[in-house]
Amino acid sequence: MAHLKPHLPSKQCLVCKRPFSWRKKWRQCWEQVLYCSDRCRRQRKQVNSL
Ligand SMILES: [Zn+2]
Repeated sequence: MAHLKPHLPSKQCLVCKRPFSWRKKWRQCWEQVLYCSDRCRRQRKQVNSL
């Protein structure tokens, strides 16, 4: 019954605080990924600039 899930690393987004999983597009830069999406990344920049 219980299927094995793919063993992927995950992180918590600094903006929305939600967990997100490794994606293929991040395979070269996973260490630097801090946000779940470009949207969150932009939001963070806006917060920093205020
Ligand atoms: Zn996010």
